[in-house]
Amino acid sequence: MLVRQKKIEKQKRITLTSKEISELLAEGIVTIILLLLLNVSITVILSGSETLKGIIWATKGAFAQELNTDLFWSLSKFVIPIFFIVDVSVLYWRLIRRYRQMQLRHIISELHFIADGNYDHRIPFELSGDLAKVVTSINGLVDSTVAAIEDERKIEKSKDELITNVSHDIRTPLTSIIGYLGLIEDRQFHNQEDLLKYTHTAYVKAKQMKLLVDDLFEYTKVRQPSVPINLISFDMAQLIEQLAADFELEADKNGMTIQVNANPASIKMDGDTEKLVRVFDNLLSNALKYGKGGKNIVIDVEKVGTEAVIAVRNDGPPIPKKSLDQLFDRFYRVEESRSQETGGTGLGLAIAQSIIALHGGYIYATSDNHWTSFIIHLPLKRN
Ligand code: ATP
Ligand code: MG
Repeated sequence: MLVRQKKIEKQKRITLTSKEISELLAEGIVTIILLLLLNVSITVILSGSETLKGIIWATKGAFAQELNTDLFWSLSKFVIPIFFIVDVSVLYWRLIRRYRQMQLRHIISELHFIADGNYDHRIPFELSGDLAKVVTSINGLVDSTVAAIEDERKIEKSKDELITNVSHDIRTPLTSIIGYLGLIEDRQFHNQEDLLKYTHTAYVKAKQMKLLVDDLFEYTKVRQPSVPINLISFDMAQLIEQLAADFELEADKNGMTIQVNANPASIKMDGDTEKLVRVFDNLLSNALKYGKGGKNIVIDVEKVGTEAVIAVRNDGPPIPKKSLDQLFDRFYRVEESRSQETGGTGLGLAIAQSIIALHGGYIYATSDNHWTSFIIHLPLKRN
């Protein structure tokens, strides 16, 4: 998950420029003049209308008993307050409308500023009503767009890194192959034995390249968002016992023993066994390759709640603290020279992590003077 540094800007009110204030004043003055003219014309029309006078007198007759009619029908006491209320409302409505237009203009100019490449900037205005919602939506949109751009950049960068690493890792064995084949091509060998030695080295290096390409293929395959996962029901304890048996001979050659502790003896769960075997194969071959000097490999398989927890431990030399987090990065090797010697590509744990994540689980490593452990948590059931 991404952690993005967003510039927090203090909310502030929109401050109008002097030009906008004059615009607002002019709008107010023009509106007042227009309204006054309108009031005068209406008064003139009302006082001059004979029909209206007739209506007034007829109504006056009907209500004369209850009302002080002279006061009620007096233009100065009745019409002027109405004029005043209407005028103030119209003035307020026009000024507010103009003020909103100005706020919108400020928002648009902020948008232009962001669009000019200032992606850290957000519209900082403290507004109310619909405009506040517009600003929140725009800021949210800018946030998600910037996050998408950053993600895209990261993917691009990691692709470049991948190409650089692969080119580097392929170039090294390829240079050897070309070198040894060149010696053969130029007949720079003295006897059959030399010839066989050169072809053997070229063969070993070619195999190393094949291993890298296979690993890389596997890695890109499990990293795809739509990678198919073939879930079947199986017994994890049994699978681990089987794998331990497969590695026993090799462990024996290295002077190591493999011990499995399963609790309970049978742990039924769902998973893609072909992919999971790939994970445990790598963990066990790592324990054999890098656990030099150690004597024991222990695999604990446990059912804990709704999870299967598998710990693969070996008692070799510890992994430095600062390397523990990076172990799962592709091409990461704790000790470049030592790993080159053992022929690893540094992709095994990156592949393992992707496979475990595909199953909805997680993997991490711990290491101290006694044990180096790789601990996997896998949900028993997958929806
Ligand atoms: P690959 O598995 O792709 O053939 P690799 O074994 O070098 O190559 P990883 O399995 O990803 O790559 O392991 C990364 C590195 O982590 C190894 O090179 C090694 O330095 C370190 N490492 C892994 N397992 C252990 C272990 N059990 N003890 C000590 N170091 C380990
Ligand atoms: Mg490995």
